[in-house]
Amino acid sequence: MKTKKFNNIELKESFDKIVNGNKKWVEEVAADTSGLFKELAKGQNPEILWIGCADSRVPANQVTSTLPGDIFVHRNIANMCNHTDMNMLSVLDYAVNVLKVKHVIVAGHYGCGGVAAALTNRQYGLIDNWLQHIKDVYRTHKVEIDNIADRTQKLNRLVELNVIEQVNNLCRTTIVQNAWKERDDLAIHGMVIDLATGEMIDLDVTTTSNEVLGEVFALVS
Ligand SMILES: [Zn+2]
Repeated sequence: MKTKKFNNIELKESFDKIVNGNKKWVEEVAADTSGLFKELAKGQNPEILWIGCADSRVPANQVTSTLPGDIFVHRNIANMCNHTDMNMLSVLDYAVNVLKVKHVIVAGHYGCGGVAAALTNRQYGLIDNWLQHIKDVYRTHKVEIDNIADRTQKLNRLVELNVIEQVNNLCRTTIVQNAWKERDDLAIHGMVIDLATGEMIDLDVTTTSNEVLGEVFALVS
């Protein structure tokens, strides 16, 4: 087997940590008699689609104490659901129409770097274009956000409002609306993870039908 050459010992060590971690995990799961690998090899049947932040501190399985196979996952910076994002839309379509997931969870988190960056006027590079979508959320809720004096509370509230707007965005897709015309077992949820406690807070915006959309947002075919 070809050996990878690293020109830096720290680079090698940090990569080895991942490779060795996998070996350890395989041993641990194999030692368990539940036969997880056998089940996973057969296929997947997750009931949940998780749309979360790419932040390393909010891994979907760990924060929900679930196993491989339980959650279909899409993550990006600041858990955005933009209508022109083919990646997100493809994941959503596959999860809703093929896997027939029952729950779609938009999971934000306090201390989100993407949300914090969006609430400044600094240039960060390419990501500035992505952050515009969060700035749009700020613009929509400017009065409320501007009325909060404390910077952390201001950011926390924008994290919550951003999740709520992404739930709205999902409900406005034809993918979700058409699914709701056919079935009543699909719920879209908005949650926020508090990094300081690990707790997941339900923002109480669960939506389960087209009825609440109204006006221009409920699309007819
Ligand atoms: Zn984040």
